[in-house]
Amino acid sequence: MSECIFCKIINGDFNTEFVYENEYAVVFKDINPKADTHLLVVPRKHVESLNELDDEVLLGKLMMTVKEAAKAAGLKSYRTVINTGKEAGQEVFHLHIHILAGSIRL
Ligand code: 5GP
Ligand code: ZN
Repeated sequence: MSECIFCKIINGDFNTEFVYENEYAVVFKDINPKADTHLLVVPRKHVESLNELDDEVLLGKLMMTVKEAAKAAGLKSYRTVINTGKEAGQEVFHLHIHILAGSIRL
């Protein structure tokens, strides 16, 4: 998926800092934060959206990554969001989970 911005970030093309990472996912700060802390949990594997995901193990690993990344960032309280489809606000068609904490501007 050479056109995908998140695949490029995962490849290190933009030198994006990963605040957390594991075998399944990378976590980095959203470029246009909608909260005091706004992180994106992004699977290393390219999947367009939740609608295309058929791997329940990966889904579980992603949710565990949310928890681990939140803990690593010192967050006890946070909101998770998955936008699925253009009409719901999905802009990047590589599955990702938003972690929002502090003052949330959504
Ligand atoms: P979506 O609307 O698809 O659920 O969320 C995509 C998010 O990715 C948006 O909040 C947007 O600010 C963020 N984003 C888009 N391009 C980049 C980028 O190149 N780097 C980073 N760090 N975030 C991005
Ligand atoms: Zn991708």
